[in-house]
Amino acid sequence: MSVRNHILGFPRIGARRELKYALEDYWSGHITKDQLIKIGANLRLKHWNQQKEIGINYVTVGDFAWYDHVLSMSMLLGNVPTRHRMKNNSIDLDTLFYIARGNAPYRTPVLASEMTKWFNTNYHYIVPEFFEGQKFHLSWLQLFEEIEEALKYGFKVKPVIIGPMTYLWLGKTTGKEFSRLNLLNELLPVYKEILNRLYSQGIRWIQIDEPILSLDLPKKWLKSFKKSYSYLSSSCKILLTTYFGSVLHNITTINELPVDGLHIDAVDGQYDFANLNSIIPKNWVLSLGVINGRNIWKSDLKNIFHMVKKIQCIRENVWISSSCSFLHCPVDLECEENMNLEIKNWFSFALQKCYEINLLTKSVNINDISILDEWSSLLYTHRYSSYINKQFLKNKLDQIQESDTVRNNPYIIRSKLQKERFCFPLLPTTTIGSFPQTNDIRELRINYKNKQITSEEYKLQIQKHISNVILQQELLDLDVLVHGEAERNDMVEYFGENLNGFIFTDFGWVQSYGSRCVKPPIIIGDVYRSKPITIDWLKYAQSLTHKPVKAMLTGPVTILLWSFLREDLSKEKISMQIALALREEVLDLERENINIIQIDEPALREGLPLRKSQWEEYLSWSVKSFKLSSACVKDTTQIHTHMCYCEFQDIMDAIVELDADVITIETARSNMELLDFFKKFKYPNEIGPGVYDIHSPNIPSVLEIKNLLNRAIKYIPLDRLWVNPDCGLKTRNWKETKLSLKNMVLAAKSIREKISNV
Ligand code: GLN
Ligand code: ZN
Repeated sequence: MSVRNHILGFPRIGARRELKYALEDYWSGHITKDQLIKIGANLRLKHWNQQKEIGINYVTVGDFAWYDHVLSMSMLLGNVPTRHRMKNNSIDLDTLFYIARGNAPYRTPVLASEMTKWFNTNYHYIVPEFFEGQKFHLSWLQLFEEIEEALKYGFKVKPVIIGPMTYLWLGKTTGKEFSRLNLLNELLPVYKEILNRLYSQGIRWIQIDEPILSLDLPKKWLKSFKKSYSYLSSSCKILLTTYFGSVLHNITTINELPVDGLHIDAVDGQYDFANLNSIIPKNWVLSLGVINGRNIWKSDLKNIFHMVKKIQCIRENVWISSSCSFLHCPVDLECEENMNLEIKNWFSFALQKCYEINLLTKSVNINDISILDEWSSLLYTHRYSSYINKQFLKNKLDQIQESDTVRNNPYIIRSKLQKERFCFPLLPTTTIGSFPQTNDIRELRINYKNKQITSEEYKLQIQKHISNVILQQELLDLDVLVHGEAERNDMVEYFGENLNGFIFTDFGWVQSYGSRCVKPPIIIGDVYRSKPITIDWLKYAQSLTHKPVKAMLTGPVTILLWSFLREDLSKEKISMQIALALREEVLDLERENINIIQIDEPALREGLPLRKSQWEEYLSWSVKSFKLSSACVKDTTQIHTHMCYCEFQDIMDAIVELDADVITIETARSNMELLDFFKKFKYPNEIGPGVYDIHSPNIPSVLEIKNLLNRAIKYIPLDRLWVNPDCGLKTRNWKETKLSLKNMVLAAKSIREKISNV
């Protein structure tokens, strides 16, 4: 029984980030809309051609998006927030950008729609907005146009859209609270219209993504699946598509749906292939997502061959596919011209993964595993022994005991000693670490990287920036200073570059949101520290001032989650390796008299598994890693941590367990949220709720900050409250930074004065 293949989606950004540059050129007025549209069309055509040439049976259409595929879906359904609507209600490409960015040519700036993380990935989608009684209309016809385009070129097309249940789940209600499920009756007819239209274009299979099936869903939502798909079943064949985890816990619901096939993520889902066939209805297509869409290693095709064979020999209609869309993976390994060839052979980016799918399909169909020999011989597990199993590291980790992850004394005792040592005023002021990253600084780093300047020259220049940052902070009269992070390109990459076990790509970009991409480092071996990383810069900074300078490290969980990981070692173990390396850095800092150390963990919340049943395990090792890196210091050394952009409520207990002396945390987005937050969040140690939003160029007034602080005082004991912005200042300019910090310090001082007069 011959198998077919497809992929769930291809990266849209382009191997050289062509879409990014085109978008930014369009937004800044350097190219016209027609030019932008042309570049998009060319990219799509290129990607379809590549898929077809490699031997993928269907090209996927609908994976392209000008900004975000959830936003494209909103446009298709005519879900445009009122503030982004044109007077005549027409909808065009600028409407899409207006929703995403709050800005478009000839339109007044308004609030953009919110953006949030796409499941447990680092991709951000634009959150659909719903209001009670909302109507939907088939509106934005780009999907159908793209299909026309692809059909015209003679491709065999399988469109992809986001299913109605997932679409509703991902959105938020505005105005009066109501159940989003109430909107199904309005939504389904539009979905039906879409399917009918696709059918009339000649489409026979459509991929409908319902990744929420891998979550724990409320009963009401599960029930509504049946209603939705019964309504939709008709013309096109539906491949119900799930990813990011197993859906077996929802399989009773799934099996009752009148669809024609199911795609499962066999990488994150870890299905037992021996049973799978009997679980899924016999007449359905079973699409096996066996090629990892979220990591960059070559697949172990021989192993997968045996898995697929187990099913293929007893079942018709098996498809081979990617675990999820390749959106989460870089585009083309061939761009990496500077990579060590041996190491390069271990990797597979989106294009190479398409090739893997084709090769696997072939070998299964001709029942010949030997054609996989060559590919499998390159697998990293056969080759990278010199990077792993470092005995000295194993010894060190084996020696770690429970007591190494606990501070000597509880916070109550530490805080007394720290207060005596530092003698801070009430409401001490500080910042989160980075200061404006000017073009000068960026150029300096690039010149150093390209060996255009010597390391002496580089050092001198960075020191100049540090001394300026220290001077400015003294002028502003902040209480705890920072060195400004001028030497860092990115908070993860910087530490990766200075630790063993990481490598970097030149073009391994993955879309994060809109035109923004990230280039995660790759962990290829054991992670350890062979030299101090931040010490010299910090020592220099401290030598310039009598005030304490706070050191800045990126925490183990954040380094872990923002890298591509090896797959032969558990996340927990990799995290402990990173934590150990950071612990050594922390101890060195302390030895050098740097007595305040901040360990940033902005990614802690996003690593939370999709299923609640797995939360405890994750939180247990992630907290342990943080504590391994931080608990080694004396009582008089103050550990800070920083977190931003997440729903802290879910992980409150874990945050408390980190036992940092001080946490600075993002809360500045709205007064009300701040208030609500501290009613619920009783942090037992010290806390600095961000008092202004660094993502906005607006300068917060003294009064605004005072108001916020006065409210915070109601819920946080005075002697445990810190005053700081809500995140690092690297994206702001100096003028904004100075004015904002000046007002922040004035606000803190004015409250102090008021208190001391009472
Ligand atoms: N210390 C980092 C900075 O100030 C923290 C960045 C972050 O939280 N994302 O830039
Ligand atoms: Zn932050």
